[in-house]
Amino acid sequence: MSAKILDGKSLAQNLRNHLKDEVAALKEETGLVPHLVNVMVGNNHSACAYAKAQEKAAEVIGIQYELQTLPEDVPFNDLCDCVQRLSEDETVNGIMIHKPVPAHIEYSSVAQYVDTGKDLEGINVTNIGKMLLGETKIIPCTPAAVMEHIKSTGVDLYGKEAVIVGHSVIVGKPLSLLLLEQFATVTVCHVATSEAGRLEEHVRRADILVVAVGKPSVIKGDWIKDGAIVIDVGINQIQDKIVGDVEFNAAKKKAAFITPVPGGVGPVTAVMLMRNGIEAFKAQLRKKGQL
Ligand code: NDP
Repeated sequence: MSAKILDGKSLAQNLRNHLKDEVAALKEETGLVPHLVNVMVGNNHSACAYAKAQEKAAEVIGIQYELQTLPEDVPFNDLCDCVQRLSEDETVNGIMIHKPVPAHIEYSSVAQYVDTGKDLEGINVTNIGKMLLGETKIIPCTPAAVMEHIKSTGVDLYGKEAVIVGHSVIVGKPLSLLLLEQFATVTVCHVATSEAGRLEEHVRRADILVVAVGKPSVIKGDWIKDGAIVIDVGINQIQDKIVGDVEFNAAKKKAAFITPVPGGVGPVTAVMLMRNGIEAFKAQLRKKGQL
């Protein structure tokens, strides 16, 4: 068997086209388009590349996108003031704070200054709580991208064994809720699972395997269950090459579907940010009776 490769670029393009139509319809009805602001501290190269990808996605979709750059040594309070001002600005519909931030800034503290209704990344405590209750359409971007890839396979998750490797706040934990919502039986593995020597046994029974660790080859190709869906979120630089966390060539002989790295989850993540922006915009318009 050779797995079908889940091409993130073409999935992202389809999703962008869909969002473009939605924004055009909203503009027709209200005369307005979403206005999103990305706050970046310093000039980190990889952060800039992601910001460029966002800018491009926004342009294609018809969203007004603004990058506000603050100096690397910006005081914590000044950054919080900036985010607070954007939160109070009626013309701004969505806000994100670009990662990484310098060491003197505690990301989670600044993130709480983002108005919950403008939280593009869906990571504000209120939005995480609403997600648990199934009361929001603003979903953390990477888990949302994983779910879009799984949806694109057409496989029904009801009763399936889903195994997530990695339990971070931005990927593994919120993803476990999204998979549960689809009635998958969810197992979340982490460093202690590996230390207990039990990672392989969990991976071997996964109908859906999602790996978000950040260690190349942490998942061996021969552990993959025949016919599984494998979503590799990991990004690792090995010399001049980017690889994921799963041994791709061996895994694709056993899986039914697999995402490549690069070109799998990454391109879809940027589009999910735009989708959150549109959802935030719509909710704000509804609140004002404009939609
Ligand atoms: P974190 O470092 O926050 O989390 C990594 C997780 O992996 C932790 O839960 C950790 O467990 C677990 N872990 C570490 N070693 C092992 C091991 N040997 N066996 C099992 N679990 C282990 O990373 P992120 O969640 O932020 O990111 C994970 C990867 O995904 C990175 O490569 C990152 O670059 C990539 N990424 C890709 C995105 C995309 O859009 N494509 C977006 C976001 C991230 P513990 O905490 O217990 O140590």
